[in-house]
Formats: sequence, structure tokens, C-alpha cells
Amino acid sequence: MPVLVVGSVALDSVETPFGKREEILGGSATYFSMAASFFTPVRVVAVVGEDFPDSHLSMLSSRGVDLSGLVRQPGRTFRWKGRYTHQLNDAQTLDTQLNVFEHFEPKLPEPWRSTPYVFLGNIDPNLQSKVLDQAQRPTLVAADTMNFWIRGKLEDLKQTLRRVDLLFVNDAEARELAAEPNVVRAVRKIMAMGPKVVAVKRGEYGALLFQGDTVFSAPAYPLADVYDPTGAGDSFAGGFMGYLSTCSEPTKVNVRRATIMGSVMASFAVEGFSLDRFKSLTEPEIFERFRAFRALTHFEDLAAGTLRAVS
Ligand code: AMP
Repeated sequence: MPVLVVGSVALDSVETPFGKREEILGGSATYFSMAASFFTPVRVVAVVGEDFPDSHLSMLSSRGVDLSGLVRQPGRTFRWKGRYTHQLNDAQTLDTQLNVFEHFEPKLPEPWRSTPYVFLGNIDPNLQSKVLDQAQRPTLVAADTMNFWIRGKLEDLKQTLRRVDLLFVNDAEARELAAEPNVVRAVRKIMAMGPKVVAVKRGEYGALLFQGDTVFSAPAYPLADVYDPTGAGDSFAGGFMGYLSTCSEPTKVNVRRATIMGSVMASFAVEGFSLDRFKSLTEPEIFERFRAFRALTHFEDLAAGTLRAVS
């Protein structure tokens, strides 16, 4: 089943302890669509400026990403500048330039309105809502957001959340959105805002998927080489949604597999700057890492009454 995404397509300038890159390909819609493209056809709704290199667009098209909903407008492309210290979990935003996104009016091509899976990537919550206004009863609406919008457009974000089934959010953002220091309580408050399922991303500590009263915990893959955490969250969402869209039903088993697939794709995203690692990624590598996640968390039950060895 195809997945539709609205989000940023960006030129990022990123500094990590392992290097510095200027004006590289980034953006929430970009990372999401690249990760999801390994599983399903992806449809992108976004805007870029006159300065956006054609080569980035042809790279995405070559992965089967449909860019019919991406427009080029006069002006400069969205830009984000961030830095990570040795504590790689939190990006420090140095600069955000909305540029062409400031006056963007998203328009879904007619045949895309009935796309069953919709992902509202991290972008102005008003734009997220405008996309939902045009969608016709999607099977699943998922969304992501960040502190920039929680601080700047909280009321608009709450309007969007009423229409969202699944929210992807990192732990710091969950606390901020709910104004609640405890993550479990914060998730309950977020669920009261709309989403029935909340995936809390915890960087190198993995992810927690809250659904009703149950919680599923996925570890992060213990990587020796992490170059750039940018896009890990969107790649998580791309792997999750991409995989789930291939399943006939969102059963508990499939949702858990999707959570691990999200973690798998996030683990690849951070192995290189920009989308570099995805460019050489193969299906066997995805399967191999999926199995490595299984081995990482699998353990046998313990029979009652066997805590002490019998002497
Ligand atoms: P993440 O997966 O959370 O690391 O998202 C990283 C991407 O989000 C970067 O490539 C940025 O271009 C993009 N980004 C950062 N800030 C914003 C924002 N305020 N709105 C939309 N996209 C953003």
C-alpha cells in the first residue's frame, strides 16, 4: 500500500564530533521517504526553492519515490543548521530558515487523496492539517513534530493531533508537549489529545511503543560507528510505516515488527552523514539487522522455583 508524506525537504548544515558538512540533503520528508522506499511506493508533498539541486531529486526518484506532489517555487529552500556534542541524543538547533515553506500551500494530486497511509512529517502543524483536509479517510494517520513547533505553534499542533492516530515523538518533546516530566504520564496526556498510539524515540536508548495499556520496548542497535544522528527519527518513522503498509492488518505482532523495522532503518541512517548510508543499503542487510535485533532481545523464560541452585 502506498504511503503519503508531507514534510521538509531541506539543505542541512550539520556538525557532529565526527565531522562537519554544509548544505547536505536533509529534511523530514526526505529521510522518511528514503527509509520507507525499501518497503513501499512513497508519495511526497513538499516544496523546494530554485537553489535545490536536481541531482537530489533524481536520486529520490530512482528509489521509486514519487515527487509529483513536490513543487519548486521562487526563493530559497528550507535550511536547518544543527550541532551534536558527544552526547549524540540531542540536536542543538543553531538556525532554522523556513524560506519557501513560509508561504507553501500543499496540494495533493487528485489520485493521491485516497492514499491509505499518511505521514505528517515534522513541519508547520498548519501544513499538516491542510494535507489532512484533502485526504479521504486514510487507514492510518501518523505524525511527528519537534520542540520548534511545540514552542511556536502549540495550539495549531493540538488541532492537528486530534486527527492523528499515531504520534512519533522523542522523549524530551513528549515531556514538553504534555508539560509533564514523567514520560509514561506524558504519553497518557498525549493520548488524551488524540493519538491512540504513541512511539517515544529515545535515541541511543531505543524506542517505546505505547498502545492502550501495553508498552513494547525496542532497543537501539549498539553501533560502534555513529557519524550523524540527523534523520534517525524520520527514518524510524519511514521504516515503521513502510513495513506496516505491507501488512494486511495492524495486528500486535505486525506493530511490534514495525517498531523493530523502524529501529533497523534508524540504525542505518546514523551510520553516515545525510542519506549516504541508504544509497548503498541492500535488502539482505536490512534482514540481517532485523535478525540481529531479535537476537539482542531474545531470552528464555525462567521456571518458577528455580532461583536457587539445589545443592
Ligand atoms: P530528525 O529525524 O528528528 O533528526 O529530523 C532531522 C531533519 O529535520 C533534518 O534533516 C532537518 O532538515 C529537519 N528539520 C529540523 N528542524 C525542522 C523544522 N522546524 N521543521 C521541519 N523540518 C525540520
